Amino acid sequence: MKYKRILLKLSGEALMGEKQYGIDPNRLEQYAEEIKSIKDLGVEVAIVIGGGNIFRGVQAEQSGIDRVQGDYMGMLATMINAMALQGALEKAGMYTRLMSGIKIEQVCEMFIRRRAVRHLEKGRIVIFGAGIGNPYFTTDSTASLRAIEIEAEVVLKGTRVDGIYTADPEKDPSATRFSNITFQDVYSKGLNVMDMTAFTLCHENNLPIIVFDMNKPGNLLKLASGESIGTLVH
Ligand code: UDP
Repeated sequence: MKYKRILLKLSGEALMGEKQYGIDPNRLEQYAEEIKSIKDLGVEVAIVIGGGNIFRGVQAEQSGIDRVQGDYMGMLATMINAMALQGALEKAGMYTRLMSGIKIEQVCEMFIRRRAVRHLEKGRIVIFGAGIGNPYFTTDSTASLRAIEIEAEVVLKGTRVDGIYTADPEKDPSATRFSNITFQDVYSKGLNVMDMTAFTLCHENNLPIIVFDMNKPGNLLKLASGESIGTLVH
């Protein structure tokens, strides 16, 4: 395997599958199998999952709910996804720990860096729920920060698009995909990979990001074995 320790970022929306809202159990099962394929080969896996399929803080603002209140609602939404994913991973035979950015004692432990690393060393999959635990951040920022803290070698950003394109491929059919691109070029071309806080954190700490299509079976395994798919930001 090319990587010993990775951080996988999944968006909340990815969990919807073909649905308009919520969680598709088939998608969960599919992701669990993909994750198992790399876990079985010895890769240490940490996961950050978003909450966009349920709630986002900016959404709250539009409907007149206070932004900070909305962000906490978004963090709780990520916990629902994290718990669903934890269940699916355990059902597929993996050992897991769920660590939270905010205190929810009955269902998970708080994030403690040393403890997270210890779980990974013991072969447990660690899921980081509830984001960083602070409003005005996203789960992309959580992914960057936690990846740096646990010394992951790469952030694998699983999306429904197979990489970073010159333009939005869903709107512009002439758009072409970069197989790799520097952090500097992403800034200068104004490309949207992650929000700027998350992206800059990776840049400043020299942490590569790979954007790839998580919905294509086998992609995660290909990446972990060092095959060049998606787009590498370095
Ligand atoms: N959120 C937050 N702080 C964090 C992480 C998340 O306030 O550290 C809130 C924020 O409102 C965000 C929501 O949780 O919109 C859900 O996360 P995100 O939008 O990143 O989910 P994704 O787009 O990956 O599904």
